[in-house]
Amino acid sequence: MGKIFVVGIGPGGMEDMTPRAKNAIENSDIIIGYSTYIDLIKDCFQGKQFISSGMTREVERCTLVLEKALEGNTISLVSSGDSGIYGMAGIMLEIANKSQEKVEVEVIPGITAATAAAAVLGAPLMHDFAVISLSDLMTPWELIQKRLEYAAAGDFVTCLYNPKSKNRSEYIGIARDIMLKSRKENTPVGLVRNAGRQNETHTITTLAQMLEHEIDMFTVVIIGNSQTYIENGKIITPRGYKI
Ligand code: SAH
Repeated sequence: MGKIFVVGIGPGGMEDMTPRAKNAIENSDIIIGYSTYIDLIKDCFQGKQFISSGMTREVERCTLVLEKALEGNTISLVSSGDSGIYGMAGIMLEIANKSQEKVEVEVIPGITAATAAAAVLGAPLMHDFAVISLSDLMTPWELIQKRLEYAAAGDFVTCLYNPKSKNRSEYIGIARDIMLKSRKENTPVGLVRNAGRQNETHTITTLAQMLEHEIDMFTVVIIGNSQTYIENGKIITPRGYKI
């Protein structure tokens, strides 16, 4: 009987991959994942068998992983960031649970885009925060808007994943407008593109001006709460310490 590791490989570079994630991949016979993530790690694990698959093929990918594990292989199914945050951990467990034959699945966490980006920006996540994906592929847009409204009203620092794609370029503007209903125009906003990767860039802006900058599917957006401020080029959300 084989084994399945669902591995969060971190935001990009090997430096941000945990030793536990590295070990799992090194101890696997086959590494399976979305082609962009396989390309990120391929050169660092030479001699391994890699299988890349396309974006919206998660169910097939997990079914393949299960088949290979039942043949006796140890498999690493890789996700960028954390495998349990909009990653492969949930669907892999669901598919493994459905199978008649039981196979062990171990979920290995990784540094998610929000924390990788927060470190680039300073310390924006020092207080309660919400993470919301603007992808409506599997979540109705009405529900996404409702969550944005509650996060805004609750004064949560808000991280937006999947902020913009070709088919839904207007969502980020609507999300911004929802935030503006209960947050000031000069609320700090950080945009980090390709956090932890060679081509990383970041912008510190405000809720009023954030749409003037490039935002795409490689970007994570962090919107501050009512206390968040910018100083010396860093975003800080105070925890409340007296200094
Ligand atoms: N499991 C991943 C998230 C996958 S959802 C994680 O934990 O990070 C994909 C979205 O995550 C992207 O659209 C983008 O908003 C964000 N993202 C993932 N990697 C990123 C990176 N290196 N830099 C900036 N944003 C990233």
